[in-house]
Amino acid sequence: MKRKLIKAARCLLYYQWPFREITTRLRPRAGVLLYHRVGESLIDHYGLYVSPANFEEHLKVLQRNYHVMAMPEFLDRFPHRRYPDQTVIVTFDDGYLDNFTTAYPIAARLDIPVTVFVVAGAIHNPSLFWWDELEQLLLKPDQPPSSLELEVEGKQHSLAPATTEKQRRENYSQTYELLKHLPGAAERRQHMEALRTWALTAPAGENFEQCRPMTLTELKEFASLPGVNIGAHTNTHTTLKILSVEEQVEEFAEGKRILEDWLGQPIRAMAYPFGDGNKSSYQAAAQAGYEAAFTTVPIPVIPSASPFSLPRLNIHDWSGRAFEKRLHDFFGK
Ligand SMILES: [Zn+2]
Repeated sequence: MKRKLIKAARCLLYYQWPFREITTRLRPRAGVLLYHRVGESLIDHYGLYVSPANFEEHLKVLQRNYHVMAMPEFLDRFPHRRYPDQTVIVTFDDGYLDNFTTAYPIAARLDIPVTVFVVAGAIHNPSLFWWDELEQLLLKPDQPPSSLELEVEGKQHSLAPATTEKQRRENYSQTYELLKHLPGAAERRQHMEALRTWALTAPAGENFEQCRPMTLTELKEFASLPGVNIGAHTNTHTTLKILSVEEQVEEFAEGKRILEDWLGQPIRAMAYPFGDGNKSSYQAAAQAGYEAAFTTVPIPVIPSASPFSLPRLNIHDWSGRAFEKRLHDFFGK
């Protein structure tokens, strides 16, 4: 009871001007939003798509209620705490084509700057990201009637024929986890080839144009547009848990070097693949020459945060109203 009273008194005090004014000025919070895709998809196992209509609603909420800032400006201001409380930065991961063709026209119309963290190796060699192709192979309704045996790192993995959506999704999640933790891209490619043969699907997949990352020509054009900032998302999007610090430095530095060569501009920030950086990743990001690196821990950025573990809020296909509420709760207003 006593604790509750103290908490209530603290709350009351916090919401009294000038206490709140002083606190938020000394300790401004920023919300870094993480999007992946803007478009429509029937499959979307991990909820990475936001429809164009909802995306527009989200940006209108930001315009009305928050201080939207471009990433380079935020990187300049963050070390000096010189950004307003409830600053918001819009970011995308991976470098999908729809960021350019669908999301950007909406953001540009509303004058909202965007940062896209690009997987350099995916631009270099445009094909679908393995997880997108896996979705198309394992979640499509017409599944092969036979089971498939995969040997992944010495362990047998059996994919039973799936007749229901639930079974298909289980098959997908299990195979996704197995392939995600493989150390080498070559081994993953080999398993993907076996899966394609089993599913009788051509390598490009059925929805190649809707699902692919940008090509180099597209990336260069996109990067030159006003309000667009490019960040790095490693070279090969390998899970960091299975890499040594030295291997992580190599991955991070290579992603930065390739993008800087292509675009002729400094790449100052990066995002960890699958959002899961750890202490050695933070050290590696600093060593690779970045000023900041982003995770997917869903809390606001505060001035005392390490620049190499800046949190981000994953955004899903929420309506404008639901998004407004989520941001409201996120900032704890
Ligand atoms: Zn990613």
